[in-house]
Amino acid sequence: MSVVKHLHQDLAQRAAELFPEMQRLRRDLHRHPELSNQEERTGRVLADYLCGLGLTVRANVAGHGVVADLICRQPGLTVAWRADMDALPIAEPPDKPWCSRNPGVMHACGHDLHMAIALGAARLLQELQEELTGRIRFIFQPAEEGLPPGVVGGAELMVREGVLADPPVSAIFGLHVAPMLTVGQIGYCPDIVMAGADRLRLTIHGRQAHAATPHHGIDAIVVAAQALTLLQAVISQGKDARSPAVLTFGTISGGSRFNILADQVVLEGTLRHHEAKVRQTILAKTHRLLEGLSAATGARYDLSSEALYPVLRNDPALTEQALALLRTTFDPQTLVPMRPVMGSEDFSFYTQQVPGFYFFLGTRGPGVASQTLHSPDFDPDEGALTVGLTAAALLLAGWGKEVKGEGCEKV
Ligand SMILES: [Zn+2]
Ligand SMILES: [Zn+2]
Repeated sequence: MSVVKHLHQDLAQRAAELFPEMQRLRRDLHRHPELSNQEERTGRVLADYLCGLGLTVRANVAGHGVVADLICRQPGLTVAWRADMDALPIAEPPDKPWCSRNPGVMHACGHDLHMAIALGAARLLQELQEELTGRIRFIFQPAEEGLPPGVVGGAELMVREGVLADPPVSAIFGLHVAPMLTVGQIGYCPDIVMAGADRLRLTIHGRQAHAATPHHGIDAIVVAAQALTLLQAVISQGKDARSPAVLTFGTISGGSRFNILADQVVLEGTLRHHEAKVRQTILAKTHRLLEGLSAATGARYDLSSEALYPVLRNDPALTEQALALLRTTFDPQTLVPMRPVMGSEDFSFYTQQVPGFYFFLGTRGPGVASQTLHSPDFDPDEGALTVGLTAAALLLAGWGKEVKGEGCEKV
């Protein structure tokens, strides 16, 4: 029996044994959630645990990020696993012993589970390091949930600070909890996983006048209303209908008084796309329509677009290999092909540089009504920890090996 085949048979069992440890870690992190770029305690807890395992640890990477390397006995390539660290400004109902002790802040996106699974993987694989090859890098990344305009952080800054280098990372894996899937299910996309996203800010400049004499001014509210309608036509008719895109304005503000023409309206929104060229088409046509509207109404406009995240794509070959590894242990029925979504995720900064596989981990307990992320009701079934750890250990231990039948052999 090959070493890796033998490992596969043990990984799921060892993952199950580590459940209480992961649950303890997850609940501790859940009690102490921290917002993006404020993950000071979180980073300390992670670094202490990883140092305790004997990994080579770098703390305070890109803010409070932590990078820990497990150097295995045999030399070989480096593979990485990423977990995000930050929480959200959401007040959690105090109905569980492990609920947030940081008022108004909650791990409502499951990053506490992501971290606990990654710590579990570090522990499990550290126990096996004599039997493994290469280097396994655990990347704990702050500020996935986004930052104020113009501030660089999260995955983009981690990459800039060299987490994919020295030695070069050959492949990267990551997961996100998914309440639309039940515990035990793993969802995956073979190519595009999530959308690229821009932050938009559109300002319409009109001219103030008395509300009773609109012909003396330029009503920025009326022009903004026309702009909103025109811009939706860019999505419905201005780009290839086979490639999805979304243009949503989430805020609109303007005007000062009921009987004064508004001289300015500001709209903030987001553009989502699955292809960079579609993004460019939409932005170009948006400008053209706004220029036409300006010429027709006399209003001026400013439009700024800040590219937040690139499109997240899985590497097709790595995806096939990952699925083959997962099938060695999971019932194929539990591996669920999914359609790409219009949400976005900064894991795409890593996959721009190296082949990656990002997948979804079911967290809905049997009989539980559907929940959504980013809501105070998000209450994942902790059974997902064992499934996530089994998957992580399979991928990190088996990556780079050829899968044959029920196990895999070294190539
Ligand atoms: Zn989130
Ligand atoms: Zn998240």
